[in-house]
Amino acid sequence: MRIVIKLGTSTLTHATGKLNIRRVEKLCKVMSDLKNAGHELILVSSGAIAMGVGKMNLTRKPADIPTKQALAAVGQCELMYVYDKLFSEYHHTVAQVLLTGSDVEDPQRRENFQNTLFRLLELGALPVINENDTVATAEIAVGDNDTLGAIAAVNAHADLLVLMSDIEGLYTADPRKDPHAALISEVRELTPEILSLAGGSGSELGTGGMVTKLRAAGMCMAAGCDTVITNGNRPEDLYRIAGGEAVGTRFYGKK
Ligand code: GLU
Repeated sequence: MRIVIKLGTSTLTHATGKLNIRRVEKLCKVMSDLKNAGHELILVSSGAIAMGVGKMNLTRKPADIPTKQALAAVGQCELMYVYDKLFSEYHHTVAQVLLTGSDVEDPQRRENFQNTLFRLLELGALPVINENDTVATAEIAVGDNDTLGAIAAVNAHADLLVLMSDIEGLYTADPRKDPHAALISEVRELTPEILSLAGGSGSELGTGGMVTKLRAAGMCMAAGCDTVITNGNRPEDLYRIAGGEAVGTRFYGKK
């Protein structure tokens, strides 16, 4: 199976912006094992800005664009250093791919992106994709990594996109406010009722929320790719998800 795994900022870092070492080590170990078992993996990783916040010892994510871009430049290095170190322990090679929205809208550049992705997979490398936040401003950015995950999954002709963040999946109501909220385990169509269940943005350091996750699921469904929304705090769940077991919310791609 070809699987795109998107890791949200809340999964990778503590609220301080510093790396969640225990979590990230486990994730890299499980992903390495899935690769060893024969799956092709592509990682879409957030966390550059948050890691920049942590590395520069700031107390919170800045609001102004130049500082965010500068922190992304700092944090992206740190992020790739961590992945390179952890995946190397299991003899896997990571490859950094930075994109903006305009890269995938331009047919020539999109084709270049696809060719590189396919070749990296043939070579057995693990592409690690993020938005090129240092140059991306609102006009040219994809804007959030849930959508970037869907773009990666569609362009890589993936079988599955896994969106890992700090929520278990799609609920019938906001579980932080409503104790009766129930997890929806399967979605076969994005009906207006399903779309109405999305709230606003999730955590303080991240960007996406349920709106961007449902948009990503919709893009994948149309391309015949399944999407799973799940909590990144149980890395071992990736084994069950790859095996087709019910974890979080699974959106079925049109077959
Ligand atoms: N590209 C951003 C970062 O690496 C994250 C965007 C997102 O979380 O959706 O910090």
